Amino acid sequence: MGDKRPLILFKCAGCWLPVTRPVRLLDEVPDLPSGDGVDLLPEGYCWRNDLTGKSCGRFLLNLRDMVNTRYHDDGRLVSGCCGLSGIDGVNTLCANGHEVATESSDCWTGPYHVELEPYTYIITELDQELVPALNTTPLL
Ligand SMILES: [Zn+2]
Repeated sequence: MGDKRPLILFKCAGCWLPVTRPVRLLDEVPDLPSGDGVDLLPEGYCWRNDLTGKSCGRFLLNLRDMVNTRYHDDGRLVSGCCGLSGIDGVNTLCANGHEVATESSDCWTGPYHVELEPYTYIITELDQELVPALNTTPLL
């Protein structure tokens, strides 16, 4: 039933490079884990945070659904113990250097996830039948 929802893909607003794999939007609050070192969301899904707090209204994703991204050039923003803490701000760029997301993947910052920054992305809805061709389609 849940698979009737459209697949969506996030692209960088600066260069239109896809920065995520096709994912499905969860419309209910998933059973969010709260421990450290586990994935907040399963692969292949994104969720629009509707809990109060600084992430309210932002899209959250699994780390492994991010594509064409790299860490920030500014070393101060990619601090962390064994991963990225994400507490210092945007630490993930698209391959062309636009700021797109904040990754939290350190051992003490709770479940791993990526939070897309507001106004840095374009949401594209995918036609299901086109999905298998995605990898062979030129980007522009
Ligand atoms: Zn970009």
